[in-house]
Amino acid sequence: MGDLSPAGNVRASDVLPRRIGVLGGTFDPVHIGHLRGALEVAEMMALDELRLTPNARPPHRDTPQVSALDRLAMVECAVAGVATLVVDPRELQRDKPSYTIDTLELMRAELAADDQLFLLLGWDAFCGLPMWHRWEELLQHCHILVLQRPDADSEPPDALRNLLAARSVSDPLALKGPGGQIAFVWQTPLAVSATQIRQLLASGKSVRYLVPDAVLAYIDAHGLYRASN
Ligand code: ATP
Repeated sequence: MGDLSPAGNVRASDVLPRRIGVLGGTFDPVHIGHLRGALEVAEMMALDELRLTPNARPPHRDTPQVSALDRLAMVECAVAGVATLVVDPRELQRDKPSYTIDTLELMRAELAADDQLFLLLGWDAFCGLPMWHRWEELLQHCHILVLQRPDADSEPPDALRNLLAARSVSDPLALKGPGGQIAFVWQTPLAVSATQIRQLLASGKSVRYLVPDAVLAYIDAHGLYRASN
């Protein structure tokens, strides 16, 4: 039995499992593909919150071009005032590679046993899963929601076929329990990438409408991604 509210009733949050989404990324910079996908999934899945978790030193990627603090600040600008989207800076506070399994273990330890965790992965990130540290343990802590991307290849790698056959369900709203299953979610296709944004900025072009205005203002104010950096 949870705490009693001032009126003497058990609060809904004490009895209903929470539904928490997690979207990791370099966010170098964060853009409308990330944000629109996050918001659509949060609404469609009726999440209590969706945590955007910027990676500190991505194990599988080149070093991001701008500082971790700038990437974090841009994500914070981007979600300001959007109640469901929150920034989780914990991977930037670690002094070691940001493995997703570590983050999920930490988050899981903070939640109730029946709270539901949903790890959001774009299709490209999902296909790279077999290269991740302890990737086969991820589903012990969360469900995986795969976001379709317009630039996606159609076939998953061989290493994921058995996993998909055993764990995927067709309806993401049918995912039950704290974790263990995979579902695909459709979102408004937005063929935008951080690579494209960095290239546009490096060549002196505008990225207006590809990132929120607040992120654009931050990029301009700090001279990020321009050719002289
Ligand atoms: P880069 O171009 O630098 O590789 P990116 O745009 O792919 O970056 P990341 O920070 O690597 O962005 O992405 C974080 C997560 O968001 C990944 O799971 C990725 O698949 C997903 N994602 C990125 N862009 C989109 C998009 N346009 N639509 C759907 N998902 C996306």
